[in-house]
Amino acid sequence: MDERAAVVGFWRELALPGLVDVHTHFMPDRVLRKVWQYFDAAGPLTGRPWPITYRTAEDERLETLRGFGVRAFTSMLYPHKPAMAAWLNSWSADFAARTPDCLHTATFFPEPSAPTYVRQALEAGARVFKSHLQVGAYDPNDPRLDDVWGTLADARTPIVIHCGSGPVPGKHTGPEPIARLLSRHPRLRLVVAHMGTPEYRDFLDLAERYDGVRLDTTMVFTDFSERDAPFPREELPRLRAMGDRILFGSDFPNIPYPYLHALQALTRLDLGDDWLRAVCHHNAAELFRL
Ligand SMILES: [Zn+2]
Repeated sequence: MDERAAVVGFWRELALPGLVDVHTHFMPDRVLRKVWQYFDAAGPLTGRPWPITYRTAEDERLETLRGFGVRAFTSMLYPHKPAMAAWLNSWSADFAARTPDCLHTATFFPEPSAPTYVRQALEAGARVFKSHLQVGAYDPNDPRLDDVWGTLADARTPIVIHCGSGPVPGKHTGPEPIARLLSRHPRLRLVVAHMGTPEYRDFLDLAERYDGVRLDTTMVFTDFSERDAPFPREELPRLRAMGDRILFGSDFPNIPYPYLHALQALTRLDLGDDWLRAVCHHNAAELFRL
């Protein structure tokens, strides 16, 4: 059986209308090429060889996701330096306009223009933001972001945030900066990328404390992730109990294994079909009003 048929079989068996994938990467070609070069070099931010499975042209990548039955996905993009986010946002607005199944995604960086371009992105229809504390190497509590967080909290717009210390810690990764951020903006709808790998427990604690916090499954529970950062088995009951706060994400196309494996990794947790339905479709459909 080919991979496409197996992925479709996964959600059909659950009687779902398809999948929602909150963590996929589409970005300007030359940026994506740089990202791939980085993974190829097994650079200091990846920590190990990382062969990219879906290294194809953009239209082919879209075709792949649609063939899998992904009803909605994102175009996670993020700046590593100032004066880049507004340009990325204009690209992603254009991408969303020509890609109706993509949730219009935007990003930001701590810089004086951030409040303005974040507001503009929302006005242009952005439905989700991406913040990458490891690559961006910024403190989420940077005063230049106060206005941004306030705006996003008021708009109830989800922000997928890479804030865990995996695969390699950054100066501002880990649960403490996020705990501080949430104490200042308790209504933020943060989606903790990779379930906060490897600080799973601390980020589950934060999700328990703050209703707006969710976690995405991106790469977690796969053989690749389990090797270096195994999810603690004793937290499985809590993972099951928080089934309405967990969202499926894949990191497509930059994954070192087939897409199907990410779904199999969720199935083998054995948390039940209702849990899988919520995680792979219903929670995100509700969050994004699909
Ligand atoms: Zn990612």
